[in-house]
Amino acid sequence: MYRIAVGEISHETNTFCPPTTLEMFQDSVWARGEEITQRFHDTRTYLGGMQEAAERLGVTLIPTIAASTQPWGIITREAYEAMLGELLDGIRQAMPLDGICLALHGAAVAHGISDVESAVLAAVREVVGPGMPIAVTLDLHGNATPRMAALATGLFSVHEYPHTDMYERGQEAVGFLVRVLRGEIHPATAVEALPLLAVPAPAGLEPVRSINALCHRWETEPGMIACALMHGFPYSDIPEAGVTVVAVAEHDPALARRAARSVAKEVWARREEFVRRYPLPDAAVAEAVAAAADRTPVVINETSDNPGGGAPGDGTHLLRAMLDAGLTDSAFGMLYDPQVAEAAHQAGVGATLQVRLGGRHDRMHGDPLDLEVYVKSLADGKFTLTALGRGVQADYGKTARLTCGGLDVIVSSRRGQVLDPGPFLLHGIDVRSCRIVGLKSSVHFRAGYEPLAARIITTDPPGLCSSNLAHFTFQHVRRPIYPLDQDAVYRSNEASC
Ligand SMILES: [Zn+2]
Repeated sequence: MYRIAVGEISHETNTFCPPTTLEMFQDSVWARGEEITQRFHDTRTYLGGMQEAAERLGVTLIPTIAASTQPWGIITREAYEAMLGELLDGIRQAMPLDGICLALHGAAVAHGISDVESAVLAAVREVVGPGMPIAVTLDLHGNATPRMAALATGLFSVHEYPHTDMYERGQEAVGFLVRVLRGEIHPATAVEALPLLAVPAPAGLEPVRSINALCHRWETEPGMIACALMHGFPYSDIPEAGVTVVAVAEHDPALARRAARSVAKEVWARREEFVRRYPLPDAAVAEAVAAAADRTPVVINETSDNPGGGAPGDGTHLLRAMLDAGLTDSAFGMLYDPQVAEAAHQAGVGATLQVRLGGRHDRMHGDPLDLEVYVKSLADGKFTLTALGRGVQADYGKTARLTCGGLDVIVSSRRGQVLDPGPFLLHGIDVRSCRIVGLKSSVHFRAGYEPLAARIITTDPPGLCSSNLAHFTFQHVRRPIYPLDQDAVYRSNEASC
């Protein structure tokens, strides 16, 4: 029976935010050994998929560390070294091993280390040597590099956004390792980098839908294992940021390169479609009101203040527009404001409060709102995710439903994007019976809301996840790069391996 060490070190680093500390990881996901098995069993996550495949294939998984937290700024050296130390200790204690399976992200940046995933893999290689098979799952927002490909045996990025195939990629990584260990394949991975920064782009819409179809066609070619478009993470201001295509072949490096380059050419031809322009909140709300006269609910997502991409989640641009419009039978969630949530919990259900809501992190995301609110209900912020990451226990800390005119606002004590109707349901709100629902997320909410929304309207006021890259001052991304530089040119990367 093969023995495979498994672990997760995952962070999407928005370098425009303040630092991500060890405490933030420890306060989010920081699990060791068997605790990992219990926490992720039967969840639609990378680790959940790895566990299922291991059970099915008769592989013994030895869990090491699972560490992740909400996207935020550059990881402190202390946090990076603590995570890496736990992983390496876990691997040393698990020896002898046949392979290693890691859930990494691809867009982690630590102080002084722009390509954290390669640094982690290099450190693991120092312990286990060059011959040990290592399979790695990646988030498609990872900024993949040829160095990652050289250090790993295979890279498996999700294809979908929302990332509804995390579980399948976890299964795929373990299945891949078993084939390597049986000597059936001697794989080769190619990473083709494009001079392109892509803002959040749903996989269900063009151009990603057609490009993913092309990737899937390559995956069914004889001798191919995987081919994925990685969107990259434009809010990591590092030289490696950008779109890549990652291809894994069973034996032939030339085939992997050919697949990656063929998809990359198509991406480049359609680069203009990766530039997104969305209405500001007042216009988005007006559009939603008009649409709601026909069918409801209409969902407005504030993409620029997405805590799932590193934004603070306490921005008020969309909420202010919804209040100004005097909406009725409508809801907004979640606004991250621990102080107001605590004040509501202190005051109790039925109280009327004067609050200064949101806008604590900065003014870019909107000014605080002075409101008189009614405390309609209170909760602990805990529920089980039902769409993306199904089965995972979410914890938004103390939450409150505050009513202001015809609008119900859910306030949370922990940062997090809205992924499904859970935050509203927790407070007795059935979003299907709302006229207009405002929420903070870029794309992941679609897994939970597309099945029920009459219409989805994206709004993009200023914010740390804005789709308008003109809001950001880039210092480290390689130039020229599209769309910052309209004259950027893509030449196939002959050095990729
Ligand atoms: Zn992602």
